[in-house]
Amino acid sequence: MDPPAHGSYGNLLFDPRWKAKRNEIISRDKGCCVICKGTDEIQVHHRQYQYVKAMKGFKVPWDYPDYLMITLCKSCHQRGHSKFKVPVLII
Ligand SMILES: [Zn+2]
Ligand SMILES: [Zn+2]
Repeated sequence: MDPPAHGSYGNLLFDPRWKAKRNEIISRDKGCCVICKGTDEIQVHHRQYQYVKAMKGFKVPWDYPDYLMITLCKSCHQRGHSKFKVPVLII
């Protein structure tokens, strides 16, 4: 079966657990985009989404191993999403 498309995280991105995880990833990546080293409008990107069959839904954004998250600036992030589709792992 194909998982549904991953939508935006919406309000989950305002959750303090995401803010904490996001800060952790950004400081691991020294506060700059891993592609261009820019620091403008830094965002954290998921390299994979995980769909949990038992929950019939995607994991919450902070519940991923650190290596699946990288720091990107807004323009590299948008460029990445327009070129590549984030793979979905069904677990
Ligand atoms: Zn960048
Ligand atoms: Zn992304």
